[in-house]
Amino acid sequence: MVSGATGDSMHLLGRPSGIRAFAFRLAGVAVAACLAFPGQAAAGGLVGARLAAKSYSGGPAATAATVERSPDQARIAFDLNLPVEAKAYVLADPDRVVVDLPEIGFLLDPAVGRLASLSRHAKTPPPLVSSFRFGQFAPGRSRIVIDLSGPARIVKAASEPTPSGGASRLVIQLAATDPDSFRAAARAARAVQLLAAPAPENAGEMTVPPKSSLPTVYIDPGHGGVDMGAVSPNGVYEKSIVLEFGRELAARLEKGGRVKPMMTRSDDVFIPLSQRVKIARDGGASLFISIHADTLYEGAVHGATIYTISDRASDAEAARLAAKENNADQAGGLANSEDAVDVNDILADLTRRETRAMSHVFAYDLAARWKAAGDLNKNPLRSAGFVVLKAPDVPSVLLELGYLSSAQDIAKLTAAEWRRRATERVAEAIERYFARPQGAQDHTAAVVVDGPRPSATPH
Ligand SMILES: [Zn+2]
Repeated sequence: MVSGATGDSMHLLGRPSGIRAFAFRLAGVAVAACLAFPGQAAAGGLVGARLAAKSYSGGPAATAATVERSPDQARIAFDLNLPVEAKAYVLADPDRVVVDLPEIGFLLDPAVGRLASLSRHAKTPPPLVSSFRFGQFAPGRSRIVIDLSGPARIVKAASEPTPSGGASRLVIQLAATDPDSFRAAARAARAVQLLAAPAPENAGEMTVPPKSSLPTVYIDPGHGGVDMGAVSPNGVYEKSIVLEFGRELAARLEKGGRVKPMMTRSDDVFIPLSQRVKIARDGGASLFISIHADTLYEGAVHGATIYTISDRASDAEAARLAAKENNADQAGGLANSEDAVDVNDILADLTRRETRAMSHVFAYDLAARWKAAGDLNKNPLRSAGFVVLKAPDVPSVLLELGYLSSAQDIAKLTAAEWRRRATERVAEAIERYFARPQGAQDHTAAVVVDGPRPSATPH
């Protein structure tokens, strides 16, 4: 498998000598060969590559990446068919380098950016670059996000001709610097960013649906583009799993004809968390379902979990997961406070309480139905402060399909038959929610406030 080959390459990094270097190359032809054998596509690296290949339609493309890193410097190079204009800057907390690019088809396995951790060698300082990600950031724009283990300055970020004279190469070269210089550079970059219009706003405008007499249900596949989400030990990507699930769920709901399904993203693109909420509210959502698949490296945890929003987390695990999911914007290369619209103050507490009650009604029913499709976590209904569930007037749940750290769950999540059954159950829960005799159909604040008190028992 391709992802296995990546792992082998990375083991070279364990050599405790000078600048540790490795090269990983995945030619476009290798991706094409894998696509011919969908049965082998259980490894998410391939799913990721397939998504990238699918969305690539001419223009600049990257086909391989090379990394060299040491505690003092790093050089990441992407092989390109055409030169591109790159704009690089640093962001603090967590410390990252962001490289903004025109849209690029990344025809290589995202696993190339999952660099081996060298923490075992505690006596030597860690390499300057700990990992990197790449993908679509917004329509027409791609981004590379590089995670730093220490303050760095950008020496170079530009396309250059290859030594052989063929094609082009995007070279990002970094060097260690002192913390004060790094923070000053991050502040300067932040100021420039604030002046520029936030491009992801466009995503919402493009997805506003025409008025429909049917209730609109927003399906929100988590992560996407440059934000990979969780990654399983064998290279299954959360962003790909949840997108496939979301697409199938939307198709099933469309066929049912009882609700109007919409998606916050229907492609491998990055969307900030609060933007997802805005897309759903602007689109007149009556229900919002965010789809995720986490990893957990403790014990043999498996099965689906359904989360609703709460000010205080139901348990430590829910709090940990919310913190992790709320980090998605940072994974996508947004600065901390960027795009953070607090919708809590917009409407009265009463509306929010009713919205939360309706979220619980749906969550209970979804859990009851999911049981028939298979695995529920032993504690399937939990709550925490998920940013993506914060619309004050749209009942919202976050469905964790399963754990990418569980071999049992991965087998299910990547099986077409399981997906068909599971999306059927979720669709039934959605249709039943809107078929309730009163309330629920109307999503306006006033009607929800005046609507029936939802029962808190499973149906
Ligand atoms: Zn997630």
